[in-house]
Amino acid sequence: MDEYGNTGEGRAARRDEAVRSAVEQGLLGPDSPIVGLLDVTGIRESAAELRAAFAEVTAPGTPVLHAFAVKATPLVPVLRLLREEGIGAEVASPGELALARAAGLSPAQTVLDSPAKTPAELREALALGIAVNADNPQELDRIDGLVRSAVSRSPLGIRVNPQVGGGSIGATSTATATSKFGVALRDEGAREWVVRAYLDRPWLSRLHAHTGSQGIPLPLMAQGVAETYALAEEINRRIGRPQIDTIDIGGGLPVNFASDVTAPTYGEYARALREAVPGLFDGRYGLVTEFGRSLLAKHGTIVARVEYAKSAGGRAVAVTHAGVQVATRTVYVPGSWPLRITAYDGKGRPKSGPEVVQDVAGPACFAGDLLAEGRALPLLDQGDYAAALDTGAYYFAHHYAYNSLARPGIYGFAPDRAGGVRFATVRDPQTLASIVAESGGGHAGALTTLHGPGAVDTQRRVK
Ligand SMILES: *Cc1c(COP(=O)(O)O)cnc(C)c1O
Repeated sequence: MDEYGNTGEGRAARRDEAVRSAVEQGLLGPDSPIVGLLDVTGIRESAAELRAAFAEVTAPGTPVLHAFAVKATPLVPVLRLLREEGIGAEVASPGELALARAAGLSPAQTVLDSPAKTPAELREALALGIAVNADNPQELDRIDGLVRSAVSRSPLGIRVNPQVGGGSIGATSTATATSKFGVALRDEGAREWVVRAYLDRPWLSRLHAHTGSQGIPLPLMAQGVAETYALAEEINRRIGRPQIDTIDIGGGLPVNFASDVTAPTYGEYARALREAVPGLFDGRYGLVTEFGRSLLAKHGTIVARVEYAKSAGGRAVAVTHAGVQVATRTVYVPGSWPLRITAYDGKGRPKSGPEVVQDVAGPACFAGDLLAEGRALPLLDQGDYAAALDTGAYYFAHHYAYNSLARPGIYGFAPDRAGGVRFATVRDPQTLASIVAESGGGHAGALTTLHGPGAVDTQRRVK
């Protein structure tokens, strides 16, 4: 049970209802064998919990921007729903910025953080007035040039890496000694360089660090924020005025992939931060947060039809339509990214019965394309459905085009007034025409028009 008295039962019940209704309403079936489902009620709840958690620890009147890390779930309707819940956007590419703008987010609700911003991207962000955190000295040089040549409303800061260490998953640890992100604070001369950068630039008003993500324990995250805060204090002291007025603490709250319970909660993290860094919340600093996975992961479910049920070497294997194309991390790095799987029958009702150790395989043509290996579940039969839970972030919204498998349709769901479930299309399933077009279909003859020097000679000779 979490601190809100939530055992995750409500979440599981809504999910079961949605799977049943998706089959009943024809969203799922023999001709549409895979969908992504988003629990709108759950997303709204998480957004409200995030706002409440930080409202509880901050001094009244503290400006707080919760900017959803768009990379976690880059879907315009999700960004619009979050906007309605008072959540902004953290973007890290021209594409993500375009999604945020399409969702109607204002520049004041948007933060740009990517590690490889081009001059054109920086110019656009500053022209729009979007907050930008410079990743490194070369980027700050570019921003210097832009600030000299035009007036901008953009709040500007520097991203630092407190180098507090990594967690259990290397690929999502951003605060290791050699992480590619931000200015590595403990490197020789780096801290002094950062202080100087602020002393020389009265317009630098923010400081940013993101010391997540999945696999990082709370105390380590709190330490990353504490070190960022200490640096802001040092800079303001050296300058003799509160030039840094906002600290961006990044995102990175880990997600519990083992049950339906939210753990840790935003409340726990906010209180751990208040404990570790009380000065951050006394009203002298505005706050920006950039949570991604923790806002969306638990509200997404991939549901895939079992096309065939077979047996190999004594192992039951359910061949489904969900594999590497929608669960890339899990398939390639199963030890770090295990997903819970639930079994539903052909009508979308939870399956019961004795558990059998089986593989839940995907549709891609390589042997390792397994959603789960050796998992004990009620035996999946042909025409049943397998659901991969907690896939609302970094899964079905991150299609991987292996085998030219189509991007599945994504539908949001919520209870209707009559006790049923209503769905809304978030993203249409990808059409075959679109796969062909995205695969160079419009340039079918392109390569045959190129001739090497030998071929040119031949042509000449023929003439
Ligand atoms: C990825 C990222 C986030 C979000 O991380 P989550 O683990 O999804 O919360 C926030 N800020 C930055 C700069 C990021 O790169």
